[in-house]
Amino acid sequence: MKPETKAIHAGNLVKALTGDVTSPIHLSTTYFRGADGAYPGGHMYSRISNPNRSALEKVISELEGGADSCAFSSGNTAGMAVFQALKPGSHIIAPDDMYWGFKKQLLTIFDGILSFDFVDLTVTEHLPNYIKPNTALIWAETPSNPLLKICDIEALAKIAKQNQLIFVVDSTFASPILQNPIALGASIVMHSTTKYIGGHSDVLGGSLTFAAKDEFWEKIKNIQETGGAVPSPFDCFLLLRSIKTLAYRIKGHCQNAEKLANYLNEHPKVATVFYPGLASHPQHEIAKKQMRGFGGMLSILTKGDADAARKVVNSVTIFSQATSLGGVESLIEHRASIEGPNTKTPQNLIRISVGLEHIDDLIADLEQALG
Ligand SMILES: *Cc1c(COP(=O)(O)O)cnc(C)c1O
Repeated sequence: MKPETKAIHAGNLVKALTGDVTSPIHLSTTYFRGADGAYPGGHMYSRISNPNRSALEKVISELEGGADSCAFSSGNTAGMAVFQALKPGSHIIAPDDMYWGFKKQLLTIFDGILSFDFVDLTVTEHLPNYIKPNTALIWAETPSNPLLKICDIEALAKIAKQNQLIFVVDSTFASPILQNPIALGASIVMHSTTKYIGGHSDVLGGSLTFAAKDEFWEKIKNIQETGGAVPSPFDCFLLLRSIKTLAYRIKGHCQNAEKLANYLNEHPKVATVFYPGLASHPQHEIAKKQMRGFGGMLSILTKGDADAARKVVNSVTIFSQATSLGGVESLIEHRASIEGPNTKTPQNLIRISVGLEHIDDLIADLEQALG
């Protein structure tokens, strides 16, 4: 089946007695035991499993081409489960522009437990220099936030395999529709399902999809079930509902973002556009090789200082000035001010999550805001 078809059918696990075409929300926290003590319905207690969550995990596995998935209550708890599953003393190689929430976890929660190097993963040749005897894992994020850097998943996977390292890809910006890292050699794909998979800015969630049901998968499954940072049945229902339109939403996001990137690239008040679909993007060829589209996220550097950039985000009327991404509505933000005083993000950088409004309205809004 093609992704469009899987997205609509793979999560429909429940054919209820009432003949529901779409799955109902299963709120029960506990399930009947049979006379033999077993659980004939396949579920025991909803922290461990729930029909809505199982359906969500199934459809994400299908879309990513993985052996199994674990759904979490947020992207951050999904990522944290990976760090928790590592042996204390392990070393991690992570990108220098890693999603700031994960960088914060490593620096403030895993400080003294794990060690890490934050390196530029777009340059694969120097990577072996960072591998130490206690290195356990390479974490990549592509496209990256907020500079839309692309790293070569296949090349990184090769290095990870040669050194017997776990290789995780945060594929949130791409969604399962645009890239499938497991097919390129990744061990685990991570998503903040809050973003494109949810797609309507109304549900928080995260997922990990595994290439194999191995020892590391087992550890993470235990963290999910015993740690208990799981999404509610209603969260899972919303995500399942959203996934049905994911492929078509992503097509719209890609189309709009491509047009907006081309428009901004010609604009006299814009110094730089970061969008992997532009031929001028430094990793455009890698993006073409490993992605089926270039996504709905882009960043720009405006000419002038932070105030000039802030003036633009304060002048839009259709774009909402808010953080996050991947929803149907277009969002715009002055990124440095949300990341705090220690950020390396340029002060004149504006990040845009291109929504599904008509492109002419989006361009007209930025036209007046840029003045
Ligand atoms: C948002 C985001 C996360 C964290 O997800 P939450 O659902 O907000 O916890 C992780 N990685 C990337 C790339 C993100 O954009």
